[in-house]
Amino acid sequence: MSDIMHRISAETLALRQAVLEYSVARMDYDPVPLDRPESLETLKELTGQTLTDAGIGGQQALAIFRDILAPATVSADHPNFLSFIPAAPTEAASLFDLVVSASSIYGGSWKEGAGAIFAENQVLEFLARECGLPDGAGGVFVQGGTLGNLSALVSARQWAKASGRTGPWAVVCSAEAHSSLAATARVMDVELIIAEPTPDGKFTANAADKAIAAARLSGLTPFALVGTAGTTNFGIVDRMDELSGVAGKENLWFHVDGAYGLAGILSTEHKSLYQGIENCDSFIVDPHKWLFAPFDACALVYRNPMHAKSAHTQQADYLDVVHGDGEWNPSDYAFNLTRRVRGLPLWFSLATHGIAVYRQAIARSINLARQIADVIEQRDYLQLLRQPVLSVVVFERRGWDITQYKQWSEALLESQLAFVVPSSHLGRPNTRFAIVNPRTEFTDLVKILDTMK
Ligand SMILES: *Cc1c(COP(=O)(O)O)cnc(C)c1O
Repeated sequence: MSDIMHRISAETLALRQAVLEYSVARMDYDPVPLDRPESLETLKELTGQTLTDAGIGGQQALAIFRDILAPATVSADHPNFLSFIPAAPTEAASLFDLVVSASSIYGGSWKEGAGAIFAENQVLEFLARECGLPDGAGGVFVQGGTLGNLSALVSARQWAKASGRTGPWAVVCSAEAHSSLAATARVMDVELIIAEPTPDGKFTANAADKAIAAARLSGLTPFALVGTAGTTNFGIVDRMDELSGVAGKENLWFHVDGAYGLAGILSTEHKSLYQGIENCDSFIVDPHKWLFAPFDACALVYRNPMHAKSAHTQQADYLDVVHGDGEWNPSDYAFNLTRRVRGLPLWFSLATHGIAVYRQAIARSINLARQIADVIEQRDYLQLLRQPVLSVVVFERRGWDITQYKQWSEALLESQLAFVVPSSHLGRPNTRFAIVNPRTEFTDLVKILDTMK
């Protein structure tokens, strides 16, 4: 092992060079190859045995990655990767991810990671201010939105317990909320009360009132109300103003799941969509979705971080040395201990480019979604399901069943034009464009629609 760590041989230098060159070449592509998955059998056959007693050598391992594994991996940052929620890291953010990797920073405690945590916290403060939270708001970057939602709701329950309330506990959200809330409820062993959104998909006060009353009637103790700031399927923003009013009146914790869509608040002309978020107790937004940072990161912010601290701080003899001195330990604010300083790539990119460019890039995605929705409406073989609110456009190809969508989607990937998979709504198959990449072009979107004729 000491050999691996210390010997700077010609071989190590060459490998260093090769890995950095590969990384630069990956960033130089314009666009990156879209690529496609391969079967397990094919990959086994092509790679052969890679883990051996003697090692196959870095050059060989890199060649296997470059020539076999990477091409069998879809590039989520391709401009025409339009399914799920794509990724579109800036080069500055990707470069700084390399720096984080080379730096071995322990991001759990101030005692170890102070400088890096300071920079991460500047980003969290910026996001908190953007959402109108008061000074003192703060939190932590965790791995993803699922873990962010879980950590926030665990904090919420702790807060409810501290006020003397008792279970059986319930969380209230809308039918359009993300699947991670159901997963969170299962892990926490709490009930999820699903409220009925309006026909245009929004979660409103009326629906929240009904769901809370129903939960209480069946003997449950609701402790949190969750609004979604940009649903994953349609990009719908719930009525934050109304929901925050209900949460205040009913003494519930108001959590905002903005994993995808809260980034839209940075677009000056769309900011008013989020009115009321300034009253939330916690929110999340994923930089790896629409804030141009690499996988994987979720910014989790609390109005009053003390509630999170009392829920999440881990106690152990060996940890005593990091507690009790008033320093900011990110581990205390989520379900995690050891952590990568995964907020640093976003910090570096924001510092490099400035916030204005982010506002423009996000507004551009929203405008592009509107533009392509207009084209969809004009084509008689297509049907737009809803006017886009943010940067997701959902539509049907009239007359197609799910098999036809699947065949079309596979052919699209085969041709390497785009990655667009079938989806569904209320049992009917459809497809959707989720646009977060500043390099996505209107003309390419039109080309994709042409393939559906
Ligand atoms: C993507 C998403 C999540 C889950 O985030 P991950 O980072 O994938 O764990 C939660 N909520 C919403 C609204 C999302 O779009």
